Amino acid sequence: MKVTIDRDTCIGCGVCASICPDVFEIDDEGKAKALVAETDLECAKEAAESCPTGSITVE
Ligand code: SF4
Repeated sequence: MKVTIDRDTCIGCGVCASICPDVFEIDDEGKAKALVAETDLECAKEAAESCPTGSITVE
């Protein structure tokens, strides 16, 4: 699955990094960044579903 984050809409809440720390982290700018471009981890999907701003696409 490919992981994409829309950093324009990300509010840096940290939910994604807390649900799936192997795929997401909050960077120095206080926004989420993907640590990998692709993943098989189901938690990435969970993070996408839990993102309050719908900024994560996993497909
Ligand atoms: Fe940004 Fe969404 Fe992650 Fe929150 S859950 S840090 S809004 S990408």
